[in-house]
Amino acid sequence: MLGQLIFDRLEDAARHSQPGPGVTRLFLSDEHRAVTPLIRDWVTKAGLTSEIDAAGNIVGRDAKALSGAPTLILGSHQDTVVSGGKYDGMLGVALPIAVIEHLLKTGIELPFGIEVVAFGDEEGTRFQSTLVGSRALAGTFDPKALDATDDQDITVADALKAFGCNPDDIPTLKRDRKNVLGFVEVHIEQGPVLEKMDLPVGVVTALTGIERHRVRIQGKASHAGTTPMHDRHDALVAAADVIHQVEGICSATEGMVGVVGKIDVTPNAVNVIPDHVDLTIELRAPERIVRVNGRGQILSALPNIARNRRVEISADQTYEAEGVKCADWIMNGLGQAIGEQGISPHRLFSGAGHDGLAMHDLCDIGMLFVRCRDGLSHHPNEAITPEDADVAAAVLIDFLQMVGPMKGL
Ligand SMILES: [Zn+2]
Repeated sequence: MLGQLIFDRLEDAARHSQPGPGVTRLFLSDEHRAVTPLIRDWVTKAGLTSEIDAAGNIVGRDAKALSGAPTLILGSHQDTVVSGGKYDGMLGVALPIAVIEHLLKTGIELPFGIEVVAFGDEEGTRFQSTLVGSRALAGTFDPKALDATDDQDITVADALKAFGCNPDDIPTLKRDRKNVLGFVEVHIEQGPVLEKMDLPVGVVTALTGIERHRVRIQGKASHAGTTPMHDRHDALVAAADVIHQVEGICSATEGMVGVVGKIDVTPNAVNVIPDHVDLTIELRAPERIVRVNGRGQILSALPNIARNRRVEISADQTYEAEGVKCADWIMNGLGQAIGEQGISPHRLFSGAGHDGLAMHDLCDIGMLFVRCRDGLSHHPNEAITPEDADVAAAVLIDFLQMVGPMKGL
């Protein structure tokens, strides 16, 4: 069973980890170096040439890809968060490689080139930057990211050199968009939707857009014993109203989630009415219009809260990243391939970021999600089953055979 081979290979890869709970394998670390021969061995068994590129990606290509034929890129990231799991990222490396090996063994030839990439960094755990590998392929890599440092003050540039890569060559990694058919990533869902629906796999429709706001609520500190209840300007009570609004509006809005995840209270003392509160609001939605409308509802609720609670509230947007849509042809192909396994092709959006955010600047993207136990990720207990990996492999095998006809090749 292909699923068992993939499962076993993921166990092997997970051994390359810092000590401690779960898997910790950071970009350009000793563990990254140690896992590289293993991945290159899988790549070679699949009949692909293997190399480590200037951005620390492990890249496998078949003869058609090397000759400049239209090429489909498959892959995911090798890195993990601290004390992460065995599947986030590496599943999308091991699975397509095993699928390509299977096609080679069964004599199925595809009418286009195949490239498999194990991106060096997606999680952004080690450095204050991320997506070095996928941005390099997309041609959007900003050389300023080479100056980002880890907590030992080692720069990305120095870490790349120590890894045997030449950062000056990163601009040469830009793929020629004429030759790229698309980018397809297999990834664990990182949420509970598929498990709740009793489905092993699902088709991703979009990668979420994200925006963040910093909110300052200015009340007035005063004595907690002597100030009458009706005469207070309690910034924290107003903050509670803001949190309640964010939760209520997000709950009532299909396709949007949001959180107040950080809150600082001043003076934060047991017997003082809170003077001011700083909090963050983060909103995520795959559809821009949904997010903008949700933002509008939340921001327009703030003056009412300020009036009712007799405080001042100001809000500044601090971050915004647009979501990206998955290509119809990839969604349809994956959906059809899932249907051929006798499984309902459920569509869902990704609330997390992925390499597809960068690859979208180069080509069409699509993702296949695989059910994970308890919807858990970024955790040592992250788990999938060999049976689900087998279904995902079967879906990818069928999908790859549809790509030629779909693209007129
Ligand atoms: Zn991931």
